[in-house]
Amino acid sequence: MVGMRERYGINPNKVVISRAVFLSNIAKEIFYYTDLVREGSILCGKCPFCLGRATLIVAPKKKMFYCIRCHEYGNVVYFVSKVRSARLIDAANWLLTEYKF
Ligand SMILES: [Zn+2]
Repeated sequence: MVGMRERYGINPNKVVISRAVFLSNIAKEIFYYTDLVREGSILCGKCPFCLGRATLIVAPKKKMFYCIRCHEYGNVVYFVSKVRSARLIDAANWLLTEYKF
């Protein structure tokens, strides 16, 4: 049986991931893994990937992170999947469970 999502070419995993990105607080999530200091509209901290001091930049309004040393960047789902060595869909589901959505 072909469901509506398959019929219209919408990948259910992409929907879940987009929802988790939209609903999650990226600064709060990254703060679980590294200390962040607010600097105006962004937050800075130690990068958990390259361990660069104060090289990780988090932009809550853009819902993105970026490291000026190792150049890792992405959204909260990518961050959680990378830091926990998990699939994107699993990271998205963890975030949605945490937020009770
Ligand atoms: Zn880095």
